[in-house]
Amino acid sequence: METEQQNESIENVKRIGIMGGTFNPIHNGHLMIAENAREQYSLDQVMFIPTGHSPLRHKQQITDAVHRCEMVSLAIADNSWFALNEIEIQSSEISYTFRTLEKLKQNYRNIELFFILGADSLFDFESWKNPDLILENSKILAAYRKHQRQEEFFQYIENLNKKYPQKFYPLDTPSLEVSSQEIRRRIQEKRTIRYLVPREVEAYIRKHKLYYK
Ligand code: ATP
Repeated sequence: METEQQNESIENVKRIGIMGGTFNPIHNGHLMIAENAREQYSLDQVMFIPTGHSPLRHKQQITDAVHRCEMVSLAIADNSWFALNEIEIQSSEISYTFRTLEKLKQNYRNIELFFILGADSLFDFESWKNPDLILENSKILAAYRKHQRQEEFFQYIENLNKKYPQKFYPLDTPSLEVSSQEIRRRIQEKRTIRYLVPREVEAYIRKHKLYYK
């Protein structure tokens, strides 16, 4: 039989969403899936964790981590459920998701982790380093992105769940077809990014002349 103390510790478990990304820059698509994950899966908080040294993107120029963090900070300021976590930025190691999740589990007691990602990342998931360890420490909440076929997306989740039972869940969220790459391209082409990123992020990009070339 559970003691009162055990009951209390079960109740105190915090459900934490993890929104990892390069955020170069953060845009409304990221915010939209984070907010819908929070609502749909009753998360107590969503942590935005900008990538430090990415294993996949080391050759691509990534805007200074300070700028990426500042833009995340500005973008989430009006949502009390959202928080910035600089664990990957502050580390000199390559940012591997499995390691980040292990560290979070060590640093915070009583947390259950839900890793939030878009369908493009879901399709790559098994090529990430140590997917088994990622799944030992988290469940995956995946958002459909429009350029993928929807049936293929749900089938993929079903197949992954056969292999890793009850680890993958679809997100029911409006899809906003925007990517950081598109934002960067639009800025270079002197096109508008209004309504694709929060106003404060747009002002920051303009002020610091980010992505102009
Ligand atoms: P880039 O265009 O530079 O590749 P991105 O827009 O995909 O970047 P990332 O920071 O790499 O942004 O993405 C972080 C996570 O957010 C990934 O899991 C990605 O799939 C997801 N994501 C990004 N944009 C969207 C979107 N519009 N809808 C759903 N998920 C998204």
